[in-house]
Amino acid sequence: MDYAATILSKLPGANKRDHGLRRLVETLQSYLPEEQVAFITAAYEFGAEAHAGQSRKTGEPYITHPVAVAQELAEMHLDAQAITAAILHDTVEDTSASLDDIADRFGSEVAIIVDGVSKLDQIQFRSRAEAQAESFRKMMLAMIEDIRVILVKLADRLHNMQTLGAMPIEKKKRIARETLDIYAPIANRLGINRLKIQLEDLGFKHLYPFRYRVLETALKKSQGSQKQIVRKISEEFSKAMADEGIKGTVSGRQKHLYSIYNKMAQKKRLLSDVVDVYGFRVICDDVNSCYQVLGIVHGLYKPMPGRFKDYIAIPRINGYQSLHTTLFGPKGLPLEVQIRTRDMDRLAESGVASHWIYKADEKSDASPQRRTREWLSNLEELHQSGTSEEFLESVKVDLFPDKIYVFTPKGDIMPLPKGSTTVDFAYAVHTDVGDRCVAAKVNRGLVPLRSELQNSQTVEIVTAKGAKPNPNWLTFVRTAKARTAIRQHMKNLRASESVDLGKRLLDRSLKDLGSSLRKVGKIRMAAALEELGLNNNTELFEQVGLGERLAPLTARFLSGVSEDGEDEENTASLIIAGTEGMVVSYGKCCYPIPGDDVMGYLTAGRGVVIHRNQCGNLSNFRKQPEKWISVNWQKDIDRDFACQIQTDTRNKPGVLAEVAATIGDCGSNIEQVEVLGRHDDCSVLSFLLQVKDRVHLARIMRSVRNMKNVIRVSRDCA
Ligand code: MN
Repeated sequence: MDYAATILSKLPGANKRDHGLRRLVETLQSYLPEEQVAFITAAYEFGAEAHAGQSRKTGEPYITHPVAVAQELAEMHLDAQAITAAILHDTVEDTSASLDDIADRFGSEVAIIVDGVSKLDQIQFRSRAEAQAESFRKMMLAMIEDIRVILVKLADRLHNMQTLGAMPIEKKKRIARETLDIYAPIANRLGINRLKIQLEDLGFKHLYPFRYRVLETALKKSQGSQKQIVRKISEEFSKAMADEGIKGTVSGRQKHLYSIYNKMAQKKRLLSDVVDVYGFRVICDDVNSCYQVLGIVHGLYKPMPGRFKDYIAIPRINGYQSLHTTLFGPKGLPLEVQIRTRDMDRLAESGVASHWIYKADEKSDASPQRRTREWLSNLEELHQSGTSEEFLESVKVDLFPDKIYVFTPKGDIMPLPKGSTTVDFAYAVHTDVGDRCVAAKVNRGLVPLRSELQNSQTVEIVTAKGAKPNPNWLTFVRTAKARTAIRQHMKNLRASESVDLGKRLLDRSLKDLGSSLRKVGKIRMAAALEELGLNNNTELFEQVGLGERLAPLTARFLSGVSEDGEDEENTASLIIAGTEGMVVSYGKCCYPIPGDDVMGYLTAGRGVVIHRNQCGNLSNFRKQPEKWISVNWQKDIDRDFACQIQTDTRNKPGVLAEVAATIGDCGSNIEQVEVLGRHDDCSVLSFLLQVKDRVHLARIMRSVRNMKNVIRVSRDCA
């Protein structure tokens, strides 16, 4: 019974035009069970309705395009999900159908493939450089989670190429170039020869129409005259195989125009040399027969030296397996013969797609990624000889990438590690751009600098003169380049600050000894520097400032006072103004503020850290009294310092907001709030505030303490 006709007769208005559905249904019936064919025709109905009223540039109804795409994949015997997705691939982009509709009707797997194809359609190839094409291919492969997305996309491109005739010539050339640069290489990389050959020939045809026509005509002419000979030799091969009891089929092989063109262009061969070659393919049942057939054809005609290739023992990098040989045929005409098994032939045609070919006994629990991995591991087994590890590694990295690809505003592609932020992008463009970046735009919208980038976004960095890297960036940047550049900048900054501090510390210590830098003098200084292995006094000051060398000891050394001289009272204190930058920092254990009694502790590499005298951590440091320096606050410091307070509050709605408002009213910013504990009727909150000094803090605490729902306020001191 004509099942296709039955299905067609049920479709509204489809009896007039079948949009290629009849052929598709017949192809599907040859390898899929009926219920899956019905599933696909349901998708056709859905798609035909969604695309109703739209037409192609060729004037045909739009639905003919997705059906043709499905046909291509059906001829490769792909599974029902892939065919369904092919039929629906343009519905989300071009019609009112939504991804949810598709997921509801046809399942999430189909929806994921359709979504993937739509996303690939959104990215645009903007520049033509070869390196750019390579990145673009990688970006496309990086974006897909299911390899069937790329299969649908390649078939989509193929049909668009087949119907390119209706386009203006400039557009034709652009699309043809893109096909040769991007899509054919992807098909090649994934071993899908069937699609690769068609994409290449069509790309060639539209990019170089004249060269294509010349070649095509020459080839047709020679094929006409070759026909007789090809048939005669095929029969000869078949008979010789039958005599030896070997099963197999022999066929004349069609030439692929683009490969002929490439051979001529690259190897500088004459047209006649390339065209006047007879091609044969022998398909056998098993590997043994392949080698037997090789023996047979070598017995019939003399093999050309150096032309035999055993791609069965050593497969090509994309998994292609076959025996290749060239023979001196009748009148010395070269005969090219390929010999392989049915399985090898299928793999040669379909590559990675062979894992999506429908098999009746299939257990389909494997995830898309796993099937792709299976293909890769098959390749790996083939390649245990280790000849092409690099290729496998690169395919693997492309299919399961740890990279993302984003665009610069000019359309260049920038590869970055997964998880990279706009700051990583800025440093990847140039260190200067990174150092001076103040804002970032993703797809033209402003985003926070710490935003993680996604595949195919366009990123623009806003820079400002005199802007500096922020040490905070170190908490989110992903790339080594950004990290190193920010650290380097911090180091330079700290170096100049530490020279200042070191000079002050040393001068103060010298004063304790009744000396001064001036009194030490140039000659003594030079001798001391040489003894310490330093080049100049800047280096010495820096080391002292960073706490790598202790000021009192260095002062004794410089002034020539012996180590065990009388213990001087440290009378002079280091005056802290709060403007010392990174070489003076404030303990996060006790948050000292102006007015507190404080001590300074020299930490190698970090300079002086200020602690409150009653800080609980001080006991840890007491073991090294030589690292302590007495410090005092400068008068009238005008900047904010971090400080922590704790409050016990009643559990009433809005209490936190009230406390926060009161703190704000006192002219302080809250940096952080933490709930330390919560009981039945009471909560303990910890606030990190910005305050000027002790007086300011006291005023804040008094205001908070006077609040109705506040039970207790205290200053933290761990
Ligand atoms: Mn399409």
